[in-house]
Amino acid sequence: MKALVKEKAQPGLRLADVPQPEAGPGDVLIKVLRTGICGTDLHIRNWDGWARQTIRTPLVIGHEFVGEVVGTGRDVTDIKAGDRVSGEGHLVCGKCRNCLAGRRHLCRATVGLGVGRDGAFAEYVALPASNVWVHRVPVDLDVAAIFDPFGNAVHTALSFPLVGEDVLITGAGPIGLMAAAVARHAGARNVVVTDVSEERLDLARKIGVDLALNVSGARIADGQRQLGLREGFDIGLEMSGRPEALRDMIANMTHGGRIAMLGLPTGEFPVDWARIVTSMITIKGIYGREMFETWYAMSVLLEGGLDLAPVITGRYDYRDFETAFDDAASGRGGKVILDWTA
Ligand SMILES: [Zn+2]
Repeated sequence: MKALVKEKAQPGLRLADVPQPEAGPGDVLIKVLRTGICGTDLHIRNWDGWARQTIRTPLVIGHEFVGEVVGTGRDVTDIKAGDRVSGEGHLVCGKCRNCLAGRRHLCRATVGLGVGRDGAFAEYVALPASNVWVHRVPVDLDVAAIFDPFGNAVHTALSFPLVGEDVLITGAGPIGLMAAAVARHAGARNVVVTDVSEERLDLARKIGVDLALNVSGARIADGQRQLGLREGFDIGLEMSGRPEALRDMIANMTHGGRIAMLGLPTGEFPVDWARIVTSMITIKGIYGREMFETWYAMSVLLEGGLDLAPVITGRYDYRDFETAFDDAASGRGGKVILDWTA
C-alpha cells in the first residue's frame, strides 16, 4: 500500500510502498479515506529537535483520519465492516493506576499513533478496537478526519465552565479556531481570539468571535477596552505555546481566572508568578482527549449545530502531499486535508 513515510533521520517525507498492516485479535483494519495534517506531522517532516529526540525511523506518520472498517479481529464484537470510524491517536497501557481508574487520558505510558508506532497517512491503518470511534451519526468526511484535533479543542474549551463568561483564546491556528467555535456555541459571553496572522483572524471572524485581535500591533488590554471589560477575562485558552501570549494572558485575567493550556512551548520561560498567586489563577495543562467523554461531546456538539466548515481551508490529493504540507506550515490558513481515495 501507499504510505507517507519518514524513512531516514533527516528532513523530508517520502510516498512509499509499504506492507499493509495486519489486524490482531483485538484490532480493527481501516481503509483510510481522508486525513488531517497536524503540527506534529510538520515537526516530523522538518526533523526539528523534538522529532530527533522522539521519532525512530522508518515510520508511517499521521494520526488524524477518517476511514471505513474493512476487517476486524476475532475478539472485536461491536465494530463491523462498513462502519465509518475515526481513531483516538493515544494508545494507552491499560495497566497503570490512571488507566485502571478509567482516566485513560492520564496514562503514564501513552504511545502516539504516527509518532511511537506506524500511523494513518496510508491507504490502511490497524488500531486496537478500544481506540476506534464509530461515527453513529453522519458527519461530513472532512470534519470526521479532524476529530482528533477537534477533541483537543473541545477538551481545552470545556475544561472550565464558560457559560456567560468572557473567554480569551491566544492563537488562531486550527485548534484555537475550533475552540473559539465551541466557546461561542457553548454560551460564552465574549470570545476574544488573538494571533499575528490577519488571514487566521479573518477565519476567527467567520466563526463569529466578538473580537479578533492582531497582537503584532495591539495588546490584549486594548481588546479589553474595546469590549468594555472592566475586570479581566474569566477563562483563558492558551493555544499558541508562545511565552509572550501566556504572559499577556496572565496579565489580563480576572481574580480567580482559570487558564487551560494546550499550546506546547518549545522551552522553559519565565512568567509573573506573583501575579498568578495574588490573582489566584488556576493553570491546567491539557494533552489529548478524555477517552471517550471528549469524543461523545464532539459528536453531540456537531449534532447540535456546531459548524467547523470555516476551519478547513485546504484539500489535496495525498500524492500532492508536499504542497499540502507547505500550505499547513504557512501559519496563515486553517486545517489542511489529504484525500486518500483518489
Ligand atoms: Zn496507562
